[in-house]
Amino acid sequence: MADMERLIDLQNISKEYDNTLVLEDINLYIRENEFVTLLGPSGCGKTTTLRIIGGFEHPTEGVVLFEGKDITHLPPYKRKVNTIFQKYALFPHLNVQDNIAFGQRIAKVPSAEIKKRVEKMLDLVDLRGYGKRRVDQLSGGQQQRVAIARALINEPQVLLLDEPLGALDLKLRKDMQLELKRMQRMLGITFLYVTHDQEEALTMSDTVVVMNRGRILQIGTPKDVYDEPVNSFVADFIGESNIYPGIMLEDQLVRFAGCDFPCVDKGFGHNQPVDIVIRPEDIQIVDMDAGQITGTVESVLFKGVHYEMIINAGELEFKIHSTVMQEPGTRVGLSIIPFNIHIMNPIPAENEEDMPDEIIEGDEVS
Ligand code: ADP
Repeated sequence: MADMERLIDLQNISKEYDNTLVLEDINLYIRENEFVTLLGPSGCGKTTTLRIIGGFEHPTEGVVLFEGKDITHLPPYKRKVNTIFQKYALFPHLNVQDNIAFGQRIAKVPSAEIKKRVEKMLDLVDLRGYGKRRVDQLSGGQQQRVAIARALINEPQVLLLDEPLGALDLKLRKDMQLELKRMQRMLGITFLYVTHDQEEALTMSDTVVVMNRGRILQIGTPKDVYDEPVNSFVADFIGESNIYPGIMLEDQLVRFAGCDFPCVDKGFGHNQPVDIVIRPEDIQIVDMDAGQITGTVESVLFKGVHYEMIINAGELEFKIHSTVMQEPGTRVGLSIIPFNIHIMNPIPAENEEDMPDEIIEGDEVS
């Protein structure tokens, strides 16, 4: 049964290399015109998933459907998909316009038509007037735009982008994020984007797919995965979190840090072990006698927009973001409203390596 909402449909995809499972039962569909991002730490299987969709790899198990048809074994050039890699390898001996025109020449498009399309692409990526430049005379950002134009001129139905902005500096990367998003909206092309940068994923995507160790942990809108992470790994990977073990005493009542807190979650049963996740911006610093917990300000760091404070409350520490600074050594109260206490099932013991620990590697953005 073809579901026309689904442009690409990965069903039960597994991939093994040398008897090691790098993708485990991936189920994912991508709708027409959707901007979908695969997000996860390095080595979690994002690129492999992308390469399976592009046709550069074949799954060990499972099928890839495109508009309902099985394309699992179709070679890359027969797929209506184009790929932009991080190392986008422009042809150094060709100028900008010939780089962009390359695919069109191969497809034997008449040269007058190619010329028109190249001009349109140069406009689109903001490189009007650069057609005759040699590509080695361009900045990294400009080269990236040429790579994007070279892919888009073929009017792919789907564009696969593997960390395409990874080589750019932070400021340029942020500009290009917005620009890519604008192009995607304007052209109505489906984008599948790979990144390990959570901020990039939240900024650009309609849908974020959080992966770890060859599995999909959560699929949702940026707001879903930020506000309602399915477990503490996702919570920690998507933004910063305080994570504590606790006991769900009954519906809407949880115990941690030696206190009982009203919360909004239900259905966990009685006296069940749970993980408690609280965002640093969701804890209020109040007077000592007005707080649910009391503690001492241990450290203060100015982060540009807010202060990050570590509050020591006996055996637990709380990371708090606030625009109001407290001096180190100050005794304070902490208050958390029920809505801001997120209750999650603990990650099963066999997946303990999944637990958050130095997972936000690389370019952390603050
Ligand atoms: P990501 O894109 O999330 O960084 P990859 O999909 O590149 O992750 O890799 C997932 C896992 O598969 C890694 O452990 C990687 O070492 C392994 N892997 C990827 N390609 C190959 C290959 N051609 N041969 C053997 N192992 C591979």
